[in-house]
Order: sequence, then structure tokens, then C-alpha cells
Amino acid sequence: MNHRILHVDGDSFFASCEIALDQKLTGRPVWVGGGRRGDGIVIASNRQAKKFGVKTGMACFEARQLCPTGVLCRPHYDEYRRLSQEMFRVLEQYAPMLVPVSIDEGFLDLSTMDSVVWRNTTPEKYVQGICEHITREVKIPVSAGLGNSSRLAKLATDAAKPGFMEVKPGEEKEFLRDRSVRDLSGIGKNRQRSLAALGALTFGHVAELPSHLLKKKFGIWGQQLWLFANGRWNEPLLLEVKDRTTISSNTTLPYDEPDYEAAQTFALSETTRLIGQLRREQLQARELSLTIRFADFTEAGASHRFKHPQYQNSVINAVVQGIFQDIMNGQVKPVRQIRIACWNLSRLDTQPTLWGRTGEERWGALDDATHQLTTRFGPAAVMTGAQLALRQLDDAHKKPKAKCPFVPQREMVKKLWGTDADPLAHKAEREQRLFRAS
Ligand SMILES: [Mg+2]
Repeated sequence: MNHRILHVDGDSFFASCEIALDQKLTGRPVWVGGGRRGDGIVIASNRQAKKFGVKTGMACFEARQLCPTGVLCRPHYDEYRRLSQEMFRVLEQYAPMLVPVSIDEGFLDLSTMDSVVWRNTTPEKYVQGICEHITREVKIPVSAGLGNSSRLAKLATDAAKPGFMEVKPGEEKEFLRDRSVRDLSGIGKNRQRSLAALGALTFGHVAELPSHLLKKKFGIWGQQLWLFANGRWNEPLLLEVKDRTTISSNTTLPYDEPDYEAAQTFALSETTRLIGQLRREQLQARELSLTIRFADFTEAGASHRFKHPQYQNSVINAVVQGIFQDIMNGQVKPVRQIRIACWNLSRLDTQPTLWGRTGEERWGALDDATHQLTTRFGPAAVMTGAQLALRQLDDAHKKPKAKCPFVPQREMVKKLWGTDADPLAHKAEREQRLFRAS
């Protein structure tokens, strides 16, 4: 069977989302800033901004220097998630199988389209229809690639960006010939180096190597790579549902926090959130760690291993509190960042049993009820003590008190906007100015 796999990928997704949320930004250079105040480093930039040299990973003030007329947007992750969902909802109407791989990327299995759907149209027109549908409904531009395997489809998208490219059956080897093996998704630095040592920098080079040599060097992967480079790797789209192996959270506080009680409240509230997420996925954790990064970037941390896997807030939070107090004992530096990780996960069965109610089942019922309440009345309807305390602290975080230590970001903001106020407070005014100028 000739597999036809479509890869769809949002163009500059976060930046495109900002434009979808505020249509006035259409056609303008836009980038999204990360970091504490949304003015740290660039985490996404659109095509117009890229033309000025604005790149992911550069400091926002550098981006501003390169492109003074551009717009810096603060990230709105919840909105990005919502738009991503809308995008996938459109995509699932077009194929029997959709495999999302990231917030803005997914694969569709179009293998069965040839004989039926594509009889009266071309693959190109069909895919263009999909892309237009997304642009119309979600207001997000997407690029797409079509090939005989998901890897090839992804390479086709990269080659097409922005737009669509089909690698027709029989043209795979030709398409790959001059492409660097570096562009293959999932290829590690070590394999790249080993291939380079064999003189194989492009797929064309790989195709010319004897297949037994690749098999000897890289095992089954080498054999597959050889088939791929020769255009003979024809692979069905598989939906792999893997259990999560870890869950973690890594938060930089809004400012360096000298109050350890506030930092602890945050850590407990965040742990509660992680454990809730694990229970929703029917998982529990055997090990966890807590790491604190201080204002001077030094770190302290410790981990804990439970006797049995745990899923209860009270038990886990008691341990997190213990670790927190241990590692902060004798410390004086303000807290910059809090990292929590849980791993060594195992299944948690919250299903009703015939033999009476188990603790797991009770917790499952509790989580279900909580979920129903929060969907109906909002996320603040049910909170743990730590979450409630954090909410009150959060209000304080909005108006930093005198105890708040020096924040270098403020200096940065002053340099950028000539004021020490919120860098986005004058966004509307700036936009108007830009609007008049353009
Ligand atoms: Mg993308």
C-alpha cells in the first residue's frame, strides 16, 4: 500500500496567534516575548519580523533595535492552547486519523483518499482547501507537506514553508538527494557525527552507501535510514499513546522573592496542580524533587522517594514542605525560580471496584466532583489552602512592596520604553502611533 501522510504546521504559531487575537496587528512585524514580564527573550516572531533579523532566542531589546516599528506581545498561553484546539478540530474533519505532535503540528493519514476523495480533485487542491479552512476559521496560517511517511511529510513542510509541497510517489529519492541529514527529525548529534565520518552529509550520500554498512553501524535505524534515503521507506501513520514518565513544573517568580513563606506557598500550590494533573491521567508518583534557584543563580535542591506510589495532596505536600524547609535552612538569598518534578510514575486505578470503596476510588470521585465544579463555576471554585493563600499573595505580587529587592528587568524596561512602568501599559498608544506612521 502506498501511504500518503500529510504534515500540517502552524506558521510562527505564537506570533500568528497574537495576530489572530488582535487583527490590527495583521501585516506588522510581531514577536512574542518570554521571561518574567514578557520582555525577556523572543520566543516567536512572524515572517515580517524575521525579515528584520528578529530571531527566536534573542533578547527583546535587541529585537526592538533591529525592528523599531515591530510590536512586542506578551505571551497568552491559554489562548494559544484554545486556538490550537480549534485548529485540530478543523483538521480532524479531513481524515480518519489525526495524530497531533505538538501545539501547532500534526499528521493526517490521507492514504485512503486516492481512490475516493481525490478522484475529482488533486491532492494539492484538497490540502489547499484544508489550509484555507484553518486560515478562515482559526485565522492562523499553516504550511503543509505530503509524502509516503511522516518523516518525509515533515521535510516537505520545511521545504514548502510558507505553503504546501507534495513529494509525489516515485520522486522521494530525488527530493531528498541534496537535503542535509541534519534536517531529519529526531536525528541526534552523535548519529550526525558518525554519518559525517562516513562522508554522508546529505540523503544522497546516504543512498550511495552500502546498506549493510549502515546496518552494522546503526542497527535497524541505519537500515531504515538507507531505505528512507532511497525513497523506499513507506510507513503507516501510527498513533502511539505513551504513558507519561515524568511531570514537572519550572516557574520563575514575578520577582525575586525574599519571603520564603510566600515561595513555599507557591511550591505547595504548584505541587497540588501537578498531582491533580497526574490523577487526571490516572497516574501516581513514587519520587519527587524540589529545586530552588536563588537570585544569584545558585541552586539548592533535594529529592524524595516514597515507600509506595502516592497520589494524595496531603501526603505529597507534607514531603514538599519538609524538603523546602530543609534546603532553605540557613539560606538568605531571595528565590528566583522553583522547580518541581515527579517521576517513577505508575498507574492509579480510580475505577469503582466490586469489593467496596478504595481510597483511590474515593479520590477519583472527589477529583470528578472538583472538575465538575470548576468547569461550572471557574477555576477558583475549589481550592486547597495553599492555592487560596497563593491567590492572596498574587494580589500582593501585582503591587510589589518595599521589601521587593532590586529587579534588573526594571532597568531594562527603562532603557526600552523610557519609563519604569509596565512595558505594555502604553501598548495601545504605541500602536496608534505606529498605525498613524504606517
Ligand atoms: Mg510551527
